[in-house]
Amino acid sequence: MPRSSKPSAKKTTALRKKPAKPSRTPAARRASRSKSGLAEEAPSAATRELSGGIWVARFKGSKSLDDLKGNFQAMAKAFLQALADAGANVTIAATFRPPERAYLMHFAWEIAHGNISPRDVPAMAGVAIEWVHGNAAASRAAAQEMVDGYGMAFIAALRSRHTEGRAIDMSISWLGRLDIRNAQGQVVAIATTPRTGANPRLHDVGRSYGVVKLVSDPPHWSSDGH
Ligand SMILES: [Zn+2]
Repeated sequence: MPRSSKPSAKKTTALRKKPAKPSRTPAARRASRSKSGLAEEAPSAATRELSGGIWVARFKGSKSLDDLKGNFQAMAKAFLQALADAGANVTIAATFRPPERAYLMHFAWEIAHGNISPRDVPAMAGVAIEWVHGNAAASRAAAQEMVDGYGMAFIAALRSRHTEGRAIDMSISWLGRLDIRNAQGQVVAIATTPRTGANPRLHDVGRSYGVVKLVSDPPHWSSDGH
């Protein structure tokens, strides 16, 4: 039945269509690179948009405890409730970070610091960014604009407790002595300094709730200290 089989065969071919030729464009080379674990399907060159500050407002990160995942959400809420009950000032800077945002931050940092050529950055499905500008200086300047826009002080990991929804960045401070209830219901009196999230006695209280401090990263607390 050539009449009915022909159109359906055609359809299958159309669906499997590879990115447009010529195949030696940077886009095609990136599309075929898959060992990074990132997407195999690069957005086509025609739909990609140059890197730069405009990307910072996309794939927004969350500051809400409601975007934390699994049992960490309840643990974090309990710890923050205890901090609030004790009169501490808490400002949350970040909770969940979409993996797309982590990708943008990570490679913007790497390009801005000259650690990777923009041509070697693997593509990520759903992120139609073109890292390669007309020349190396322009590529790097655009990446730096993103680093500045994100307010990065360190490189961002592609996968982290933030992309898993199991981390919080927050600043904590209080005046005088902090009397805070731990997860066992005992009131812990913290009269030592600093009166911030860097206080080791507060780390013990956080840990009792399952919210663990990463000491090397001042605002960062997570499910396991990573
Ligand atoms: Zn963090």
